[in-house]
Amino acid sequence: MVGTTIFHKIVRREIPADIVFEDDDIMVFKDIHPKAPLHLLFIAKRDEDFVPSIDDLTEKTAHVPGLLIRKAQQFAREHGIKGYQLRFHVGKDGGQEVFYLHLHFLSNQKLEQQQSER
Ligand code: AMP
Repeated sequence: MVGTTIFHKIVRREIPADIVFEDDDIMVFKDIHPKAPLHLLFIAKRDEDFVPSIDDLTEKTAHVPGLLIRKAQQFAREHGIKGYQLRFHVGKDGGQEVFYLHLHFLSNQKLEQQQSER
């Protein structure tokens, strides 16, 4: 994936991240400054799915937020996470720092707890 943001570099494995899930479409990794016991970021990986922000969505990329939300729902179900918050920060004034569309997934339920309980 071409591009210069820190998330492009994570997708290209140029900088490390605590990746908890990946498939052909998306990558999920832990936020480096967690705002909840579990704070994950969901991003789309395909070049054609790249969009900097919700504010930049077009007809071609309109499916991307849905893709991220659907994967978050599946991830939560698979890990037994019953309650969570999903957030998009939009634009600098909306608190967005990284201009690579990402879905924040926050929960009071820790992933480690879920895994160790299995
Ligand atoms: P936003 O404010 O919506 O742009 O969120 C960007 C998020 O990315 C912030 O919560 C940061 O803590 C997080 N972040 C920045 N750099 C990294 C990194 N290298 N690995 C994981 N999370 C990061």
